[in-house]
Amino acid sequence: MHKEPVTRELFDQVMVPNYAPGSIIPVRGEGSRIWDQEGREFVDLQGGIAVSCLGHSHPGLLSALHDQAEKIWHLSNVMTNEPALRLAKSLCDLTFAERVFFANSGGEANEAAFKLVRRYAWEHHGPEKNEIISFKGAFHGRTLFTVSVGGQPKYLEGFEPAPGGIHHAEFNDLESVKKLISKEKTCAIVVEPIQGEGGVMPGDPEFLKGLRELCDEHDALLVFDEVQSGAGRTGHMYAYQMYNVTPDILTSAKGLGGGFPVAAMLTTAHVAKSLGVGTHGSTYGGNALACAVAQKVVDTISQPDILKGVKARSDRLCKGMMDIGERYGVFSEVRGAGLLLGCVLTEKWQGKAKDFLNAGLDEGVMVLVAGANVVRLAPSLIIPESDIDDALERFEKAVKKLTA
Ligand SMILES: *Cc1c(COP(=O)(O)O)cnc(C)c1O
Repeated sequence: MHKEPVTRELFDQVMVPNYAPGSIIPVRGEGSRIWDQEGREFVDLQGGIAVSCLGHSHPGLLSALHDQAEKIWHLSNVMTNEPALRLAKSLCDLTFAERVFFANSGGEANEAAFKLVRRYAWEHHGPEKNEIISFKGAFHGRTLFTVSVGGQPKYLEGFEPAPGGIHHAEFNDLESVKKLISKEKTCAIVVEPIQGEGGVMPGDPEFLKGLRELCDEHDALLVFDEVQSGAGRTGHMYAYQMYNVTPDILTSAKGLGGGFPVAAMLTTAHVAKSLGVGTHGSTYGGNALACAVAQKVVDTISQPDILKGVKARSDRLCKGMMDIGERYGVFSEVRGAGLLLGCVLTEKWQGKAKDFLNAGLDEGVMVLVAGANVVRLAPSLIIPESDIDDALERFEKAVKKLTA
């Protein structure tokens, strides 16, 4: 093992250069606070990119992990296990779903969903019905199929040939979908109810309802990618419940494990039939340790007081960011839902989102970006209100310096 002190420089020597991580290395977290190697403290509004939904070192998650670790970690899918079955039952009880497939990441859950919609159409309607409609600006993961369905061409550049039969419509523009959809060819519409990476852009309720109707008219399946918007983030267990539009397939990851890698694809019993024995699989999917942790996450965040608390925290954070935005002329609006917020930069600050992230780090607050024009916030769903106030104070200092 490498015995010398670990530094940020080591990253450039041993890691594939596909990331550009910040200059500090965090070593410890508790609640919504993080400390780096030098002992500097940060208020965490990144939440591991909408993952650490109960903050860091949550006692309930620690004991769930510890208890399961002493029983059994892993079996593969040659055997089933108690934590996976319990978690699947909970997810069915809490949502429209009747069947669950477990995976390890959002991209994998989506890969399963995209394979399922093809397979379902192939079985029920024939091989011609294989086209997927998705949206510009969408993000669905980094496997070849998921970047192809995603709507950010730069993520596909140099990796072609891409899987075919995928068309991109304009988000929040039902007419653009109508131009692409057909009963003969379209097998599914795939959408994030709130586009996350694409700039924290909420779907219009009428748009999402319209997609449901179009799917029904054209015998196509509706897939909601709730990898980012799910697991309590909006103050609802899943955003589809907020919109009152029920998909046929829903994918969940990020917050689902609260920091432990786990993902799920939820669907109905009827649709699930198309993934019969041997059609799809995953070695780690349904891992006992992962499911035990996710169970604790689900049990905790599904409590009404936690979900209500998201609303109160959202209002406080939203108002604080709007105040800063107005005072310094940096934000034109704060959009999103619950604790997935996007602060949209004004004309003058276009392209500068990363500067806000870096300025925040200098003042001890961690924020995210979503593209070059949006400062994104996705903190713990149980972040103490005093931490929100502290974060706002630190962020204001950062903005003051940046705009001076
Ligand atoms: C993060 C994200 C993904 C990809 O998840 P991974 O765990 O990184 O594979 C897919 N869809 C959405 C909406 C996401 O935000």
